[in-house]
Amino acid sequence: MVDQTVPRKLEKLYAVKGMNDIVPPDSAHWEALEDTVRALMSRYAYRMVRTPIVEPTALFVRGTGETTDIVEKEMYSFEDKLNGEQLTLRPENTPGVVRAAIEHNLTYDGGKRLYYIGPMFRHERPQRGRYRQFYQVGVEALGFSGPEVDVELMLIAHQLFANLGLRNVRVEINSLGVAAERRAHRAALIAYFEQHADLLDADAQRRLHANPLRILDTKNPAMQAMVAQAPQLLAFLGEQSLAHFERVKTLLSACGVAWSVNPRLVRGLDYYSHTVFEFVTDELGAQGTLCGGGRYDGLYELLGGKPTPGVGWGMGIERVLELLKEQGKSSALPVVDAYAIIPDAAALPVAMHSVQLLRSAGVSVQMHASTGEGMGSMKSQFKKADSSGARYALVFGADELAQGQVLVKSLRDGQGAQRLESLTNPALWASTLQS
Ligand code: ATP
Ligand code: MG
Repeated sequence: MVDQTVPRKLEKLYAVKGMNDIVPPDSAHWEALEDTVRALMSRYAYRMVRTPIVEPTALFVRGTGETTDIVEKEMYSFEDKLNGEQLTLRPENTPGVVRAAIEHNLTYDGGKRLYYIGPMFRHERPQRGRYRQFYQVGVEALGFSGPEVDVELMLIAHQLFANLGLRNVRVEINSLGVAAERRAHRAALIAYFEQHADLLDADAQRRLHANPLRILDTKNPAMQAMVAQAPQLLAFLGEQSLAHFERVKTLLSACGVAWSVNPRLVRGLDYYSHTVFEFVTDELGAQGTLCGGGRYDGLYELLGGKPTPGVGWGMGIERVLELLKEQGKSSALPVVDAYAIIPDAAALPVAMHSVQLLRSAGVSVQMHASTGEGMGSMKSQFKKADSSGARYALVFGADELAQGQVLVKSLRDGQGAQRLESLTNPALWASTLQS
């Protein structure tokens, strides 16, 4: 029997491979980015949607597509032990949002503009910009069929990069037309790949008849030259599809967005139609796609809903933050207005109450707290105050408190300018602490 009374050093536990902790000070960059996203979304009238992280596996098999990398090899799937249901940690959020929109009949009175921020899960080989739990910002515009919404979505991404101060992000666009056009192209594509069967890798051979479009998406360098010569879908587009695509280009140009057509851009997922696009950079190596999306007019029906057009994009937050770091644009770390120095624990009742009143008046105050025996020396408290970045130290000394006052000391100017303030109503002088 193990003797429970003898303390035993337990081994450490670690995060799952490819899944990262986001801790201070780095988490500040995440907060700043998320704040920027929320402010931006409200300017475009996009509203938050939050769906479960776990969905029925069938949602992704149907919604993402059986022949995609995601469904073939990247999903974290498991059986619910209690009822045997097949479940999956969401690898992307478009199927979940569309499922929710159908379930709640969100488009009953017209289009809905939605956005989300949250974690996605894919069992990939972890490397820079590629993780097993990663975060996406995404938008979905449901119920709108026109090219103007395709462009509105691209404008949001474009503006987000601009607001973050990022340079050298370009947008590539393409059109996947409609189902009949894709079928004609598909036949031509299969014929072409069959002529070059000797060059196809195992993945491509498997996809040749299941989903030849995906072969165009290959990352295998040995296949690039052959794939570059393959028949292009653009050549198979009819009048209406071309008109939609031309309108997208015109509207993008009218809004000052520089675009380029990438005829090989097909995106990894099965459900796209008409406009597809990616925002890419050359500054992050192989993981240079920051944001990808497009129109998915068939997805509602695929998930059992009424025919409803949709368009959306997903953006990898880790990659955006990495590029910000690369370009020296990381946000400033947060600092507090004031640090409360409490020389003796006897001052705590008055000090904590005063600090509370200052905070409710809008001042950010970090309170000194003991980490061992007692409150620590004044010297060590002032050191902590300095490293907190606070502009002021509030010294709750016994003499000052006896007079109903606190000493406010500037930590920024070299002279250490100081003054006494009354504790009767700290809200009266709170604003003098704020930057
Ligand atoms: P990639 O070609 O890089 O694998 P993808 O086509 O699989 O990307 P999407 O499904 O379009 O990616 O997801 C949208 C965005 O999410 C990507 O452009 C990327 O920024 C980000 N992303 C995708 N997978 C990962 C991952 N494993 N780790 C971090 N970010 C990711
Ligand atoms: Mg991928």
